[in-house]
Amino acid sequence: MLPVVSIVGRPNVGKSTIFNRLIGSRKAIVDDQYGVTRDRHYGESFWNGRDFNVIDTGGYLPNETDVMIQGIREQIHIAIEESDVILFVVDTEAGITSLDQSVAQLLRQEEKPVLLVANKADNEERELNATEFYSLGFEELYPISALSGRGTGDLLDEVVKLLPKEKDEPETSIPKLTVVGRPNVGKSSFINALLDDERCIVTDIPGTTRDSINSKLIYNEKEYILVDTAGLRKKAKVKENVEFYSTVRTDRALKECDVALIMLDAMRGFEEQDKRILRDAAKYNKGIVIVLNKWDLVPEKDTNVHKEFEEYVYSRVPMMKYIPIVSISALNRKRIHRVIDIADKVLQERKKTIKTSDLNDFIERILKEKSLPVRRGVKLKIKYGTQVKSNPPVFKFFMNKPEELPASYRRFIENKIRQEFEFTGVPITMRFVQK
Ligand code: GDP
Ligand code: GDP
Repeated sequence: MLPVVSIVGRPNVGKSTIFNRLIGSRKAIVDDQYGVTRDRHYGESFWNGRDFNVIDTGGYLPNETDVMIQGIREQIHIAIEESDVILFVVDTEAGITSLDQSVAQLLRQEEKPVLLVANKADNEERELNATEFYSLGFEELYPISALSGRGTGDLLDEVVKLLPKEKDEPETSIPKLTVVGRPNVGKSSFINALLDDERCIVTDIPGTTRDSINSKLIYNEKEYILVDTAGLRKKAKVKENVEFYSTVRTDRALKECDVALIMLDAMRGFEEQDKRILRDAAKYNKGIVIVLNKWDLVPEKDTNVHKEFEEYVYSRVPMMKYIPIVSISALNRKRIHRVIDIADKVLQERKKTIKTSDLNDFIERILKEKSLPVRRGVKLKIKYGTQVKSNPPVFKFFMNKPEELPASYRRFIENKIRQEFEFTGVPITMRFVQK
């Protein structure tokens, strides 16, 4: 799991400018859903050979003082919990303010490493003035200019030194099943139902990760790590903090898992946020199972109704028909094991390797079924293909003029691969290269 660096401080000291400098041109997740906070960001950074995540905790609007103090206080608490290193940013142009002092007081009580960053030290004079910030009670001070980049190299050197050591070995080879989904769809209920179940043997794994409640589950004599992403909500009070950090958490949990159990509420339908989680899971090439919870609330439950739900979900994300959908009731413990059975199937599918000879027989057949078009006077040809990797699967196809391959033909190949070789719940990567 990538370490996390949080940027905290009062509004206008330059947090988002620092954030942008740290993540460079990489894409950030922007949290702009709320009026109370300014946008918050989350993205990946890289320095001295280390990757890490950066969180810009944003800022509250300055005139709402009480909300601001409460909001900042809570953000700082969550930031501390979520982070490995904290950058506490102050402004050399403005000097020390009482808000800086309150933030400093909160941070001094914590065990996590805090680097005091005196921003806007654009020149030597400002850099000298920055020494006043020593009175905030931190040992080391980093004067920087986020605008020009002055001093940021030294700061990053220190940040990277403070990150936890990289582990060579993956933490465990036990597959990770992560339950993700919007608040209130029933993630915790589902996990608790499983953990209470007599057919599952459960052991806690203390200290494995700080931000998710992980349990080891033995079911059908197989081991799984079950990751709960719902925990944080119960702690935070300020709504914006909850939403933002659950986005951050969901993203990290998705990157880490083997199978994402994406939970939907059967009574609430499929929303933009669900689509995003689904797309992200596919983008990260994770195994995916859609879990339709609260099935007990659906009035008529014959097989047609399940079909209709399936069609409804698939109509929202047409290229994802390969994802299995299971309807359950966490409340009544209906079909909760089915989820694990299907997740296990997806795990197996994800590890599958198609023999090159089988794949080439297959290619020959589909080329006969639908021939490739002529482009710029040249007939497109796929010469052969091979599965270069599994878990997650990657296929490579050798052809003339790969840049001319129509997207529709690509989709055709993917559909055919799935018809022939299944890969249930598993995103597949196809590369077309010149030969
Ligand atoms: P945030 O509210 O803490 O995220 O602060 P912003 O990043 O939005 O910056 C607030 C203002 O300070 C903006 O006008 C920035 O251009 C400016 N600013 C940020 N970093 C520097 C710097 O290093 N030097 C100077 N002179 N201005 C800066
Ligand atoms: P989370 O935020 O995704 O962890 O959701 P919770 O597990 O906290 O559940 C949110 C609410 O939905 C709670 O009131 C649960 O009792 C309720 N709930 C969860 N699963 C079911 C279910 O299968 N059927 C019904 N009717 N309610 C459920």
